[in-house]
Order: sequence, then structure tokens, then C-alpha cells
Amino acid sequence: MANLLDQTDDSELMPLDVQTVHAWSQRYLQLMGDMPKEEEEPTDAQMAALDKRVNQMGPQNFLQWQASKKVFRVAAISLDICSLASLMTYEKVIERLTVQWPKNWNLIAHADDKARAEMLERLRRNLVIYLKDGKRVPADFKEDKPWSVWEQKGYMGAAYQIASSTVGLVKAMSELKGNFWAVPSRSSREIKRNEVLKLASMVAGHGRDPLPLSQETVEGVAACLKGSGMRSGDQYLNELKLLHIEEGYDMPPWLVRTFTLCKKALCRNKGPTKKAAEAKLENISDDLWQEKGSEFKGGINFAVMYAWACVWMLREIKAGACKWEHVRADEQQKQITLSIPMSKMDQMATGVKRTLQCCGEVVCSRFCAWNLWSRMQKELPSKFKKKGFVFINEKMERLSKSKMIEAWNSATSCRVSGHSARRSGAVEHVRRGMQIQELAFLGR
Ligand SMILES: [Zn+2]
Repeated sequence: MANLLDQTDDSELMPLDVQTVHAWSQRYLQLMGDMPKEEEEPTDAQMAALDKRVNQMGPQNFLQWQASKKVFRVAAISLDICSLASLMTYEKVIERLTVQWPKNWNLIAHADDKARAEMLERLRRNLVIYLKDGKRVPADFKEDKPWSVWEQKGYMGAAYQIASSTVGLVKAMSELKGNFWAVPSRSSREIKRNEVLKLASMVAGHGRDPLPLSQETVEGVAACLKGSGMRSGDQYLNELKLLHIEEGYDMPPWLVRTFTLCKKALCRNKGPTKKAAEAKLENISDDLWQEKGSEFKGGINFAVMYAWACVWMLREIKAGACKWEHVRADEQQKQITLSIPMSKMDQMATGVKRTLQCCGEVVCSRFCAWNLWSRMQKELPSKFKKKGFVFINEKMERLSKSKMIEAWNSATSCRVSGHSARRSGAVEHVRRGMQIQELAFLGR
């Protein structure tokens, strides 16, 4: 293959039979009406190579992928191409992705392909150049064994970072997804239609046809879409409108107005253009988690601080606005109620109230509002008054946005954004069985 089509592909090619070559020529003749010019005509072997490449099927799922990698692993180690540790690290990344996105195997396989075919080669090339220029390269980098540097983090080069971090791969994946969905294909529209119709039925109530649409249904669907944090929520809403119209129902002014208002609401807080990194609470080390709040400048453990924002699905700005006066605890029910002012005008915080109950586990989980509140109260040193902003700096002022993000970063060992806690919290609530309506309510 290396001589024929792709210099990076060293696989062997089976000799061709005359019939296959004849069939290929016939197809060309049929389509083009003439045989190709001599200088443009590929050799039979080149055709065969391309045919092999096009028809080569990748692994169909993670298990197959793993099986094929096992063969590769044995070969790679026998030939001393890279270290076992770096191979395992890479496999773990792929496995984690398949757990997180079980339905997106195709995308993960693409990302894997892309990573190995393009990124690794680019990385190797750059390191070789760095080496020649006398620049710093990872200590154990060898030209003939380039992939082992993979496991060392935080060294240099964008390509290298992509390789070593899950987030990078996820980003590559979402870029891939972007490419797939850039052309509004019929099928992706069809999927949107089905999903939004399902959602509308849920909102309308059991057994009721959501069409023709009522104001309540449209608003309910919009609330759910918003609560889910989906970026393309307005497109779903648009499909819902089209469904209604195509079924031959009227669009009276009140319905037009409802759609306009809902669409505005969906676009207003469209959220970040990049998906916030999901930094899970369970990944925080026990040592850090158990450390008392009194050990921290503001009197609250950074991990607890992050968990608090997660459990209430708060963006950084809302988490920072939390005041002690906004929290009510019901000792008997083990319930916590949080009220957050919607704006500066709403200092009494009459706007939004949310209540969460203790997780009820024998030892309270990290994702338990009751647990977090108890810890924040108990561990706060007495020099701090339980008044005003909950999260403060050493000067007892409200924690700035950058300081809050810094605290979240150090708690999670991830590079989080202002949206990370909200997104991670939403995912965790869904994992624990919360329904989409409840989620929308909690996250409104
Ligand atoms: Zn609990």
C-alpha cells in the first residue's frame, strides 16, 4: 500500500483477478462514456489499493476496537514502538468516551482514527524538528519510539495536548459532529422532529395528542429545552411549529406570539459556544474532599464550593451571588431551600425558590445539598459571620469570578468554565434519575 496509495500504510495487497479489474473498467466506461486518458489511468494495483481502503470497515463497537487494539498492543510492544503505559492511557480515554456517549461510537472511532492518523504524526514531526533546533522535548522522547511521550502532561504543543486530554478529544469529536451536521440533512431534521414531538407529548400529558399546539405545550417544551442546556433548542422549537402547520392547523396571533417569546427566551441565555467541561465530583480525591473548610481562606472547602454549584445547577455568576440569607434548612424533613434573586432589583429573592432533599444514603453523598449545607455551616470558622455572601475572599468580600473559577479548577483538577458546575450538575441529576421536567424546574 505504501508504494501505491498511502505512504503511511504498509499493509499487503492481495493480487487481483482479471474479472474484478474488468468490472471496474466497465463501470467507468458506463458512467463516463469513454475510457480514461492514458496518463490519468490508475494502475490495476492502485485501484485495488483504493478499493481496499474504501471498503475497509473500522471496528463496529468498543469491544471490537479493544480486541483489535490488543493485537496492536502485542505487536507494538514486541516491536518496541511505544510504552505499555502510554497505550493503556490512550485506551482508557477511548473507553471513558464510550461510557459517556454510548450511542456515539462512530464519532469516537472517527476521533480515534483522526488522533492516530493525523495528530500523532504531527506531534512526532514537531518533536523531531524541536530536537533538531535544540529546543526542549520530553525527556524520554526517541525519534523511533515517538508515542511514549504521550503520557507526560502539560508539556507543549496543541497537538500534544489534544492527545493527552479527554477534553481535547471531546472537542475534536464535537468539531467532527459539527462537520457532520453542518449540512442540514434530512435525517438529522427527522430526528429533531421525532424528539421534539416526543417531548411535546410528555409535556401535554399522558395519552394526549400535543397537536394542535396549546400555549402551555409550547411553553412547556421551551422550558424543557432551555433546562436541558441544549444549544440548538430554538431549532427544535421551529420544527415543532412546522409540524403544527403541516398538519393543517391555524397559526392564530396568540400562538405566533407564544413562539416568538419562547424563541427569544431560548436564544437569550444560549450559553457558551463551547460545551463546558464536565468535571465530576466523584473524581475529586478523598483527601481534598474531607479537608475541613477552616483550612481554606474563605472558610469553605473548594470542593464543597464546587459541589454546591453543581447540586443547584448554578453558573458561576449565580453561585457567587449566593448569600447565607438565601438558604433555609428544614431540619425535620432534611430539606434545603435556596432562593436566588433573579436580578439586582430582586434583593428579597422572591423570584426563584428551589428545594432539594437529603440524598438519604447512609453516609451522605457528595451530591447531597443537605450534606453540603451542614458542612459549610459546621466547618466555617467563627471569625466569619454567616451573613452576606457565602463564598468570600480573605477580606470577607464576595469572591470574584476569576477566583471562583480558580477554586473550582483546583478542586477538580480540570480547566472548568463558568458553566461547568451547571452542566456537570445537570448530568449528575439525570444519572440519578431526575426527569427532564424536574431538571428544567431546578435549572430555570
Ligand atoms: Zn444526604
